[in-house]
Amino acid sequence: MSLLDDLLKNNEDWAARINEEDPTFFSRLANQQSPEYLWIGCSDSRVPANQLLGLMPGDIFVHRNIANLVVHTDLNCMSVIKYAVDVLKVKHIIITGHYDCGGVKAAMKKQSFELIDGWLRNIKDIYVKHIDSFTEEMSETQRLDHLTELNVIEQVNNVCHTTCVQQAWARGQDLTVHGFIYSVKDGRLKDLHVNFDNLDKINDLYHIL
Ligand code: ZN
Repeated sequence: MSLLDDLLKNNEDWAARINEEDPTFFSRLANQQSPEYLWIGCSDSRVPANQLLGLMPGDIFVHRNIANLVVHTDLNCMSVIKYAVDVLKVKHIIITGHYDCGGVKAAMKKQSFELIDGWLRNIKDIYVKHIDSFTEEMSETQRLDHLTELNVIEQVNNVCHTTCVQQAWARGQDLTVHGFIYSVKDGRLKDLHVNFDNLDKINDLYHIL
């Protein structure tokens, strides 16, 4: 008996259902994965990449952390991007933020969350960088939503600034970086239309190749 019997039973039922629908599904996936997408999203339990995109196992490579940040000193995230681009050769990297993000809300508070403070500081930096775009007329929710969108755009830029992505573009690899926002209220994704497939719109200083 396991304390998590419910979960194990769910898994058993799920695997049986998939197997019934497609008897070669698992054997095909066991041989290789070749996802076209890398999803970088928030760890929030309401934002599961596969489910909300209607994708199956094997369809999308996923990295999640608090508030979907791409931090250049984060070896975990950098390794995921490197592997996805160089080995899996994904065609799309999708940064997905979501409204009502606890990480963004926490970053807007003037209080300590101890170990998480350094992580949240990345979001505070974005707020301060774009402070002129926040107006007095904005409600608290509008301010948070605006910062959430800015955060996605900044992370899209951060992906484009990596050596790995610039190397891929330099060798002519088909790779586009996108920014999406998800609404936990209605389950809908919105494209922020910040799509980059080259360095043309990236500040010169970040061009390293
Ligand atoms: Zn979140």
